[in-house]
Amino acid sequence: MAAEVVAARFLLTKVFVSTHPKHLGAAVPWVIVLGIVFALNAVIAVVQTEMQRLLTELVTRRSLERIVVAASSVRLAEFDDPNFHDRLQRTLVNAALRPVQMTTGLLRLGSSALSSVAVAIALATIEPLFLILILASVVPVTLASISLGRAFYRFTVEQTPTDRQRNYIQLLLTDKDIAKEIRAYGTGPFLRDRFSALYGQRLAALRRLMRTRLIRGLGSGLVSGLAVAGTLGLMVLFLSDGRVSLAGAGAAMAALILLGSQMQALAGGVGALYESSLFIEEYNAFVVAPDEDEGESHQYGGLPVEVGRVEVSDLSFTYPSRTEPSLVGVNLTIEPGQVVALVGENGSGKTTLAKLLASLYEPMSGRISWNGIDVTQLPADAVRPKVAVLFQDFVHYFMSAHENIAMGDWHGYDDRERVIAAAKRAGADSFLSAFPRGYETFLGPQFFGGSDLSGGQWQRVALARAFFRDAQLVILDEPTASLDPRAEAELFRSVKELFAGRSVVLISHRFASVRLADHIYVLDQGRVVEHGTHRTLMRDAGQYSELFTTQAAAFGLSPTTRRR
Ligand code: ADP
Repeated sequence: MAAEVVAARFLLTKVFVSTHPKHLGAAVPWVIVLGIVFALNAVIAVVQTEMQRLLTELVTRRSLERIVVAASSVRLAEFDDPNFHDRLQRTLVNAALRPVQMTTGLLRLGSSALSSVAVAIALATIEPLFLILILASVVPVTLASISLGRAFYRFTVEQTPTDRQRNYIQLLLTDKDIAKEIRAYGTGPFLRDRFSALYGQRLAALRRLMRTRLIRGLGSGLVSGLAVAGTLGLMVLFLSDGRVSLAGAGAAMAALILLGSQMQALAGGVGALYESSLFIEEYNAFVVAPDEDEGESHQYGGLPVEVGRVEVSDLSFTYPSRTEPSLVGVNLTIEPGQVVALVGENGSGKTTLAKLLASLYEPMSGRISWNGIDVTQLPADAVRPKVAVLFQDFVHYFMSAHENIAMGDWHGYDDRERVIAAAKRAGADSFLSAFPRGYETFLGPQFFGGSDLSGGQWQRVALARAFFRDAQLVILDEPTASLDPRAEAELFRSVKELFAGRSVVLISHRFASVRLADHIYVLDQGRVVEHGTHRTLMRDAGQYSELFTTQAAAFGLSPTTRRR
């Protein structure tokens, strides 16, 4: 830029000296210099664009990697907090955009600043007062640009909950699993209206923001415009009283135009950088969030941890989003190799207790110990491998069957024999090996060549995943909800055999299965109201006996225990 100004100045000087062809020849080298400078600039611009494309991808990958690491390692309780989801959404949306904007912005700012300095020096050599005036003209634009950056960040923060709701509705309208219900209930138009209304809210807020931005932008632009006009007026004045030469005025005019636009870009760039810095600050706070795998104490770090006797004493827990506790003063013991069943009505706290037993949440009070050691004192990476959980709402991984099972213990990913053995124990081998691509078949039809499974088949795959994890404590939350009665009875009869030597916590509403457990705990509103074997609980004629008798009447069960 500065080179162009200097070359132009020399060129103009040569032209203004005389228009005689003899003298015009002296301008030729400067015409060539000017041409070379322009060509060089064009080449640099192309290289810059290509490098920027690559840089964008590199930065995006790095920032997304850090987000997924943070999101997959924070405490599970964070996911119960809407603020966490807001922050996660903002970091995800801005992860790609902001660091790139910041990097390219800084590069651009650096190069503009450099060329501006050169042009400024060139201008100062002509008339320093012009430089002072043009610099002053940029101050209001810069201030306005910074305040607009802050306003946009505030707008984004305010809009995140609405944006998230809209994204959720969008998911409802586009997800495969949800598609059937949307059609069956004809809720499409209702949800589309909700989607439009939520978008309307965002646009209304955006319009308000735009108005503010326009007013502030106009105000600052006007002040800057006046300063530029003043500078030009001054130039005319200096030209008329001979303080600057005609060539000097011409070059100064070119420099003013260049510097003016550079400075405007610089001011805009400063505002954009400030705006991005606010998002990046939030991003940094998100990705450096404390890692949940930091145990409170590492006194057992490195030593092998055994589950042994599990003892739950006076355990209470309230979800962060609730005021009412979900578990109150729970006491429970699981001896090694025992099958312990948890029963109770919906919402009585069974799944919550299972999640605490799996160390997914920390107790609010009371403790869970393994062989007398408080589990919260153990690092999570020592505890988790010892526990396998089959959740009621287990994940359907749209990946290969092999991967669906190996996900139970990814250290053993390549152990094909073990994957097949786990599938066989879960009764999944018969249908998985019948697929043309066997265990390499993609489950879920979303991806090319994928096959969908029935609910019961998915459940068997999830059960195989639990088997694949060589855990000492196995938690099964409604593991047979999607199985047919025969398959269910079969599975429960063989639970002891299948999980031989492991402690099993079984949550089930099927009393025919529950009665086979070594010990049964009945939960009601977060408390253990009775416990014992099927025989003692039936004899006590309490809640268990009542629930069992109701189900027995409906399904024709016998109250006596039959074990194989
Ligand atoms: P159950 O498994 O016996 O049906 P849960 O343990 O799922 O019962 O739920 C116990 C109580 O905790 C219920 O009142 C339920 O609404 C509440 N609850 C469960 N999960 C959450 C959660 N993530 N956030 C807030 N409350 C929850």
